[in-house]
Amino acid sequence: MNLLVTGGAGFIGSNLVRLLIRRGHSVLNIDKITYAGNLASLRDVAASPAYQFLLADICDPAALQSAFTRFQPDAVMHLAAESHVDRSIDGPGTFIQTNILGTFTLLQASLRYWRGLPHAGQSTEHAEPNEPSIIQHRPVLRSLGDEETSLVEQENAASHPQSTIHNPRSSIHDPPSQESFRFLHVSTDEVYGSLGDSGKFTETTPYDPHSPYAASKAASDLLTRAWHDTYGLPVIVTNCSNNYGPFQFPEKLIPVVILKALRGEPIPVYGKGENIRDWLYVEDHAEALLMTVETGIPGQTYNIGGNNELRNIDLVRQLCQILDHLRPRADGCPYANQITFVTDRPGHDLRYAIDATKINHEIGWSPTQDHQSGFRRTVQWYLDHPSWWQEILDGSYQLDRLGRGQAPVGSDGLGRP
Ligand code: NAD
Repeated sequence: MNLLVTGGAGFIGSNLVRLLIRRGHSVLNIDKITYAGNLASLRDVAASPAYQFLLADICDPAALQSAFTRFQPDAVMHLAAESHVDRSIDGPGTFIQTNILGTFTLLQASLRYWRGLPHAGQSTEHAEPNEPSIIQHRPVLRSLGDEETSLVEQENAASHPQSTIHNPRSSIHDPPSQESFRFLHVSTDEVYGSLGDSGKFTETTPYDPHSPYAASKAASDLLTRAWHDTYGLPVIVTNCSNNYGPFQFPEKLIPVVILKALRGEPIPVYGKGENIRDWLYVEDHAEALLMTVETGIPGQTYNIGGNNELRNIDLVRQLCQILDHLRPRADGCPYANQITFVTDRPGHDLRYAIDATKINHEIGWSPTQDHQSGFRRTVQWYLDHPSWWQEILDGSYQLDRLGRGQAPVGSDGLGRP
């Protein structure tokens, strides 16, 4: 399939792109490369002829239209988002912009493209044409194998206005039709709000988001569903629990714990560490997304979860124990000595847990990693790839505490109150 992936240079996106290429699909990755986007996470696939990259903002309708016309996707897998709850507390404006307006812009581009597709078995002559267009927009580049070359190209791309995106589909493969096209919207379980001591989120749990991040994702989910119900666009929504694994930006809990531990710094735990999350290994999530785009039913929502509920404090202790085993401290003391309790996040949801029965029964997906195997793999990955995270920590982010809710209103640079 030709798969248009948004946010493919992020944590889940880069793991997904890698899986898609490995499975023989062609990928166009559209990413703005925000602080969370990192082309180094795609170094191993960047030279593949099956991979193309477009540096663009999903809020840019002209860039999207051109990409659809040239690449002719069989499906869109929409992951681009602002994704960190703490940042949404300090600066909600970019979350509204990307998560809501960006999703709206992508839905509109998808709808326009989808309406131009033929019906199954119909020749393209009868469809409204997807006119080839030469649209001047943000620069386009094909990533090269060498990350540095890619980054240099990215910087120089302003001088290359012509698109190089192409449709890699060979003539033996069926072109997309209105019936076969899919728009997969990747979302979070945080839209459902907080659980008490028991129960799990199902696909029919009412939305009750609490953070600006969760609220913006909830809005984007509802827009996506509306484009199905109103216009017939074949959308599928997935709501997933907390992910962890390789290539996660070091602001999220698990990399923060690993890297603070390795640097001999206090390991921060919000509140008393009693908040519970359902942890899913990122490669299991990527597999679920591929299976859902292949066999999910348009108009449906699927919850994706790891069946791995843990209190934050227990998670942190487990990571410390794995590190004690894999990279003992020089003084022989346990890493758990570095654990420090800090002021809780404002509006911190107590418990999330996913009931993944539907995706298991209807699509046949289930996770392969439990937290013991997944955490060990993850710690090992961060130990084996210091240059990946060191490069990030040498830049603008140094594992600082974010999201205390005290940033000046409008400080997200969008000038919005
Ligand atoms: P991430 O922050 O690591 O990556 C987001 C990517 O989107 C980055 O590459 C960034 O450059 C890109 N991006 C941001 N704004 C953009 C814009 N305007 N135009 C184009 N690209 C843009 O996020 P992630 O953790 O990989 O999450 C991916 C998706 O999965 C998000 O939609 C998120 O809501 C959802 N999700 C994440 C988790 C999790 O635990 N990380 C769980 C469930 C769902």
